[in-house]
Amino acid sequence: MTTMHHNTPDLFALSDIRGPVLRPGDEGYADEVTGFNLSPTHTPDLAVGATGTDDIVTAMRWASATNTPVAVQATGHGANFPIESGLLITTTRMTDVTIDPAERTATIAAGAKWRHVLEAAAPHGLAALCGTSTDAGVIGYTLGGGLPVLGRTYGYASDLVRSLQVVTPDGTLRETDADHEPDLFWALRGGKGNVGIVTSLVSDLLPLSRILGGAIYYRGEDAETLLRTYADWTPTLPPEMCTAFTLLRLPPLPSIPEPLRGGFWSRVAIAWTGDTTEGERLLEPIRSAAPTVVDTVAEMDFTAVDEIFSEPQDPLPARESCALLRDLPPEAIRTFLDEVGPTVPDCPLLIVELRHMGGALARPTPTEDAVCARDASYFLETVAVLSSPETAEAVERATAALHTAMAPYGTGRTMVNIHGKPGTESDRARAWTPEVYNRLRRTKSTYDPANLLRFGHTVTPA
Ligand SMILES: Cc1cc2nc3c(=O)[nH]c(=O)nc-3n(C[C@H](O)[C@H](O)[C@H](O)COP(=O)(O)OP(=O)(O)OC[C@H]3O[C@@H](n4cnc5c(N)ncnc54)[C@H](O)[C@@H]3O)c2cc1C
Repeated sequence: MTTMHHNTPDLFALSDIRGPVLRPGDEGYADEVTGFNLSPTHTPDLAVGATGTDDIVTAMRWASATNTPVAVQATGHGANFPIESGLLITTTRMTDVTIDPAERTATIAAGAKWRHVLEAAAPHGLAALCGTSTDAGVIGYTLGGGLPVLGRTYGYASDLVRSLQVVTPDGTLRETDADHEPDLFWALRGGKGNVGIVTSLVSDLLPLSRILGGAIYYRGEDAETLLRTYADWTPTLPPEMCTAFTLLRLPPLPSIPEPLRGGFWSRVAIAWTGDTTEGERLLEPIRSAAPTVVDTVAEMDFTAVDEIFSEPQDPLPARESCALLRDLPPEAIRTFLDEVGPTVPDCPLLIVELRHMGGALARPTPTEDAVCARDASYFLETVAVLSSPETAEAVERATAALHTAMAPYGTGRTMVNIHGKPGTESDRARAWTPEVYNRLRRTKSTYDPANLLRFGHTVTPA
């Protein structure tokens, strides 16, 4: 009975971990496990604050030897389910970003936010494919494909990934790219955190410093006119024009500038990567479609990209949801406005957005991946703040009603990054085509047969 087997837990002692190893009740535990989205309360049995790849390898070997389920959190932007058992590895201490200006690449560690990458890349005249908030983590976002602000021009963030370093649930540190462990490389680009914990990735960067960007705010009451113009205008745009139409019900918070504070607005967000004069010309039909309240569109440094969508900067209890739409015919606009438009009293969905897809977002990658949103023309997204249990109930009702009503115009799928709270296995499966979902389950059975990575938006091994 005293013989030590190869995978006894003692060989992979948690005491070897350099970062904090915390249990419920320990000082610092609550801060360690709490992320940006405050709607779930995480209560894992153990929290490991990884300081580097070694810590992740040790924690994963221990988890494998003890058959302990594992979750990972960088920023908690995607925290939409409670982690109530097992081991949570946090990567917030791993924020290194190294730029290779000659190769035009960034090597990005597990806990880096987009802000860290943009700041490191900008001095070299380079940029990266972040989303609407540079506070989001690079790895979580990119593993879900990553729908960038500049997506129509450059494609998905995962299209630019050259290689990844990942610890699979058996505790092995692996390097993967198009030529090494291609199934792993496939699954990590669009398949989210199903097959391992990524410790770093190498991504191509773009030679880009300045764009024409900002947002045009109109009265909420003009939503119908604007949306009709938007639906006619967007199909005429070249891929250098990246836009989104949003209905915004802004709370009366001091952090929101006047005159927008506490109001209901229609907004068109703009990011144009071409010549400025040409961009201004292309904007004319939407700019003149209704009286504008605020218009911030101007030449800007790409590092100021957060100013385009003005996403909330402080942690809050949020509920998001999404759907991919095939097109936006007049009936779809009518249906959309019936659910969330100006005539709907007390609509609890604070942000309802239609992002224009197509362009480079419709182009397949040279190396096959698990991104399943290339066939959509628009991306429908909602965000609500769960300020009370009553609000939470109203949000669920409004979210469900909107998606049911818009279903006839949808591809039937969601995007894993913004799917919102992971429901049943069949609900989660909607983030992929049946073919990709089944391949993901097979790949998971190779790399995670014991289903240690079972939290959140994951699939079960085939
Ligand atoms: C304000 C806001 C704006 C957003 N805008 C966009 C957008 O424009 N486009 C878009 O595509 N998405 C967007 N998102 C969604 C975002 O991509 C997801 O929330 C994503 O999960 C964030 O990653 P994270 O690491 O910051 O989050 P976390 O909550 O820390 O992680 C979420 C999940 O990512 C996975 N993950 C994280 N780190 C690792 C790792 N090292 N290895 C393996 N898996 C890992 C895990 O599955 C984890 O559960 C936005 C979210 C917010 C809150």
